[in-house]
Amino acid sequence: MQIGYKARLYPTSKQRNIFCRMFGSCRFVYNYFLAERIRSYKEDGISLSYNKTASLLTALKTDKDHLWLNECDSMALQESLRNLDRAYQNFFKGNAGFPRFHSRHGRQVFRTRNQNNSIRIAGSSIRIPKVGFVRYKGLKDFEGRILNATVSLSPSGKFFISLCVETDDIKLNNGGCIIGLDVGIKEFYTDSNGNSVSDPKTYHRHEKKLVREHRKLSRKQKGSSNRNRQRIKVALQHKKIANIRKDFLHKRSFKLANENQVVCVEDLNVRGMLRNHYLAKSISDVSWSEFFRQLEYKTAKRGGILVRVPTFYPSSQTCSICGYQNPIVKDLSVRKWICPNCKAHHSRDRNAATNILNKGLEMLAS
Ligand SMILES: [Zn+2]
Repeated sequence: MQIGYKARLYPTSKQRNIFCRMFGSCRFVYNYFLAERIRSYKEDGISLSYNKTASLLTALKTDKDHLWLNECDSMALQESLRNLDRAYQNFFKGNAGFPRFHSRHGRQVFRTRNQNNSIRIAGSSIRIPKVGFVRYKGLKDFEGRILNATVSLSPSGKFFISLCVETDDIKLNNGGCIIGLDVGIKEFYTDSNGNSVSDPKTYHRHEKKLVREHRKLSRKQKGSSNRNRQRIKVALQHKKIANIRKDFLHKRSFKLANENQVVCVEDLNVRGMLRNHYLAKSISDVSWSEFFRQLEYKTAKRGGILVRVPTFYPSSQTCSICGYQNPIVKDLSVRKWICPNCKAHHSRDRNAATNILNKGLEMLAS
C-alpha cells in the first residue's frame, strides 16, 4: 500500500537556488519534448513514446548548448518526460485536453525517484539528490520505503515536499471500516451506509446577504468613500462565507478519516460538470476538490487511504446489486428507482455511493 506524506522544507538560500534551477530544468525538458512530440507527429506522422524521448534526452544532454541539463538530477528530468507521457495518455483516453506547455509563472514543481537511498531522512533533515540535506518540519514517523518525492514552491514562497511511501501493512486504528461517498447537488454527500450530510444551514443565509451587499456596491458611485466602505463590507462577507465552508469541510473530513480506513470517492471531472450552468453554482460552492484533498491527507495520516474512482464510471445508473445499467436514472430528477433486472429498490445517491465503494475496493485489490 502506498501512503503520501507532506512536509514543509526549510532550504538554505543556496538550496533554494538549486530548487529553482531544478524547477526550470524540468519545465524546460517538459516543454522541449512536448514541442518535439508535436513536431514529430506533424512532420513524420510518428508518435514518440516515453522510451524514445528518454533516449533523445540522453543525447540532448551531451549537446554543447544543453550541457547545463547535467546539473539537474537526472531522475527528475526523466520524471518530467513521464509526466508528459501521462498527459498524452490522458488525452488519448479522453480524460483530459491536449497537453499544454508549462509556463514559468505556473506551478513550480518537480518530482524525483528514490534510487539506492538517494532520498532518505536523517534526523531533522531529508536528503534530496543534487540538493543535499534539507531541513524539514511536520513529517510524522513512518515505516516503509520512500518511492518518490515531489518538491513544490507555493505562490507565497514556501517549499514543500510530498513523499510517496510504500508500506507492507498499515496500522488499523479504526476497525478497518470502509465507506463510499457520492457527492451531489441536493446533499453535500450520501454515504454507502445511507447517511446524508447537507451543507451548513447558515451558509445560504450568508450567501443571500452577499448577493444583497454586492448589489448595493454596484449602485455606489465610483471613487466615493461610500463605495470604498461597501467594498470592505463585501470582502468581509466573502471571508465569512469562506470560513464557514472551511470549517465545515474540515469537520466532515476529520470525522470520515477518523472513522474509516478506506474512503472511496468519485474522481470528479469538475471542469466537465461546471459546463452545465444549472449545476455550476452548487458545485463551485461546495468545493469537492478541496474536500477530497483534505480527506486524502487526513486518511493517509491515520494510515488509511482515499481511493478516487474514475469519472467515466456510471455510478448512478448501475444497479449496485446485479450490475444492470439503467439509462432512465441518467435524469437527475430520478431519486428512487427499481432495478428492472433484479427488482432491487434503490435510492439514487446511496446506490451510487455503494457502487463507488465496490469499484474502489476492486481497484485496491488489483
Ligand atoms: Zn439489479
